[in-house]
Amino acid sequence: MTSARPRVAVVGAGPSGLYAAAALAGSGVPVDVDVLDRLPAPYGLVRYGVAPDHMKMKSVIRVLARPFGPGEVRFLGNVKVGDGPESVPLDVLRAHYTAIVHASGCALDRRLGIPGEGLPGSIGSADIVGWYCGHPDHGTAPRLDTPAVAVVGAGNVALDVARVLARTADELVATDVPDAVLEVLRESAVRDVHVLVRRGPQQVRFTPVELRQLGDLADAEVVVHDDGLLAGGVPDEVTERHERANVATLSEWAHATPGTALRRIHLHFLRSPVRILGSDRVTGVVVERNVLTPDGRVRGTGEEETLDVGLVVRAVGYAAEPIAGLPFDPATATVPNVAGRVIDAQGSPVVGQYVTGWIRRGPTGVIGTNKHDAVEVAASVLADLPALPHPPRPDPDDLARVLAEHHVRTVDWTSWLRLDAEEVRLGQARGAERVKIAELADMLAAVHGATAGPGG
Ligand code: NAP
Repeated sequence: MTSARPRVAVVGAGPSGLYAAAALAGSGVPVDVDVLDRLPAPYGLVRYGVAPDHMKMKSVIRVLARPFGPGEVRFLGNVKVGDGPESVPLDVLRAHYTAIVHASGCALDRRLGIPGEGLPGSIGSADIVGWYCGHPDHGTAPRLDTPAVAVVGAGNVALDVARVLARTADELVATDVPDAVLEVLRESAVRDVHVLVRRGPQQVRFTPVELRQLGDLADAEVVVHDDGLLAGGVPDEVTERHERANVATLSEWAHATPGTALRRIHLHFLRSPVRILGSDRVTGVVVERNVLTPDGRVRGTGEEETLDVGLVVRAVGYAAEPIAGLPFDPATATVPNVAGRVIDAQGSPVVGQYVTGWIRRGPTGVIGTNKHDAVEVAASVLADLPALPHPPRPDPDDLARVLAEHHVRTVDWTSWLRLDAEEVRLGQARGAERVKIAELADMLAAVHGATAGPGG
């Protein structure tokens, strides 16, 4: 049957895509919305980026799930858009949809560009976050058979990684971490987590609540290495509220008497990694002392020290991968756009193509930031719809046939709910809300009605 209504595909079922789908479906404009995701599970960064000990933050899932249901927004999981094997090329999708909103986020982590970065034991935050969040692409456990780890960066991702590594396994039992992750954390030899902050206490990008939380771990304490920067408490010239809060927290810790906790999180200010050491795996990192320039940047002093660490995690931000068939700005790692409308090198709109979320504006902001973004992009789509050409193949059954031709076996909302229920069932044995199933084959088995066994 041919659909007369305009059809919009949202590519990416993370918060930005789902907020966009909700804004389109709830607009009152007659439009059919499909949400495609390369994984069999929805929720993107909420499921695979929010740290397991932030379960409350994941309650936004209830809001994000609302548009799905019979006769409403369709979920087409396990559908990769792109030119790879078992993927559907963007050009093929274009024949089926009036408009496509790309919400595929930032899958890559930025690199430091220093010698030794390619050694085993030097990893990006996407790898370790993906691992403890049970992402099927990041199943390999980091080696935690080392007493010391360095985490580079002063954003919330660096805090998440440091916290998860410093927590006791018992603190994470009631979270959604896969059983295999819990086992590795239980055996962890890590005692010291060194967070390397290249600028000063005032310039950190931690949000104050998240920073404060570092002080609330069951058997870990924070040690501040500030070269005396925090001796005077919060300077009067610090006026921004979040900066004052962060500096106050850091000064309190800088003046605290050392305790006897099992683990320590060291915050090193004005320190940049310059070389990662080791022959067949990481054995240390050389850090250089920096000074702050008057415009808030850093300059290396040439003064170096070595930290003996067996693992270096860079948590210095993410970058988007280009989308085959769309323009890309390598300088910002985003798709050029105006109000979400993709534009080409001449500044003309690429008909029917839109972007929202991190692929649109870069990897910044909290989950809620994506809502404003999505509402604006949905408004652009809705304004353009009447003038957009009808796709040549608007029949949903036709799309299903084409996906099958590309060897894509889609996971619909009902099938995802089977996986969801299986994870909740696994959680019961551990007293957790759910336990994630991390292997793609096990996810698909649960989707198709087979149980993953008691251990996931
Ligand atoms: P981010 O906030 O952009 O922080 C990146 C950090 O890396 C900055 O401190 C930056 O320092 C540092 N950095 C960059 N290049 C570096 C280099 N070459 N050497 C040393 N340090 C370097 O990124 P993020 O932590 O990946 O977070 C991404 C977004 O997700 C943020 O908006 C964050 O708030 C959000 N998020 C929120 C939560 C939460 O709410 N709980 C959790 C996770 C993530 P400079 O400032 O000096 O550039």
